[in-house]
Amino acid sequence: MLVPERLVTAGVRERTEDRGMNPAHPLLERWNGAIREGNCSWSQFVIEHADKLISMSGITRPPFLPDSFAHLQKVKRIIRADLGELDALLLRLENGYLIKLNATQHPFRQNFSCAHEIAHTFLLDTNATAPVAKKRTSRSLHLHQLNEEVLCNLGAREILMPKSVFSDYAQRSGFSLQSVPSLAHTFQASITATARRLVEVSPEPLIAIFWTFRKTPTSSIRKLRVAWSMQSSSARRDRRYFVPEFASIGSGSSVAYAYASDHYTSKPENLNLGNLDGRYHVESKGFGAGSKRTVISFVFLKAPKH
Ligand SMILES: [Zn+2]
Repeated sequence: MLVPERLVTAGVRERTEDRGMNPAHPLLERWNGAIREGNCSWSQFVIEHADKLISMSGITRPPFLPDSFAHLQKVKRIIRADLGELDALLLRLENGYLIKLNATQHPFRQNFSCAHEIAHTFLLDTNATAPVAKKRTSRSLHLHQLNEEVLCNLGAREILMPKSVFSDYAQRSGFSLQSVPSLAHTFQASITATARRLVEVSPEPLIAIFWTFRKTPTSSIRKLRVAWSMQSSSARRDRRYFVPEFASIGSGSSVAYAYASDHYTSKPENLNLGNLDGRYHVESKGFGAGSKRTVISFVFLKAPKH
């Protein structure tokens, strides 16, 4: 049967990280007031919606599989198909949404994509027919600068790994890179999403660095280089660290050893990456194979460096 469908989002998350908020976003108007009053932040808004959804689902223990409660957010159908390079699609139906997931991807990644698309629905007014273009004003400029994709990834982590539950499990398994594979298995989330979540909730000042072996736009020398990094909120309280993309690390480092082997490494390391400059305790582990191989490092900012 043909259904009236309208494409809402088509996501390749990595490529849309820097995309700004759609200027025609229906929420611009709805939330301008609250944000102007300073009593609402967009991240809070998304997290509160995610928590409400989990609470409505009645699920209290992992895994929090979005398929089982997406209907509570008016997702009428979830279809899995080969979407090529896309992670997922969100389409508007007459009375709700349709989510298409990329069946060629790992099921844990599909879980995250599904949660991400659900988070998009928090930001949409299901009663709106078509978004109305708004003039860009100085007040809405602040909202334009916010990144919808980043917000939806935040929402997806909260849906798949609700903070209170995840923190309990992380407390038991330890805030270490070694805990990531088992937590990923328990919450049925990808290694990357789980590592990010662990850093987000870590009470320890911690920076996660994701490394890939590659060239830079200006250098053809392939090295183990920073793809991206993030720091725990506990680390942000002390200092803002800047770890530049493409910064490289030597072949004699424990990070390089983790890349070349299947071993988990945990040792003091001299780092000179932007203003992350000094000797820190670093855990590293390689994941994936071939061109997709990455190393994740956890840099402990206050751990003893002996
Ligand atoms: Zn998206």
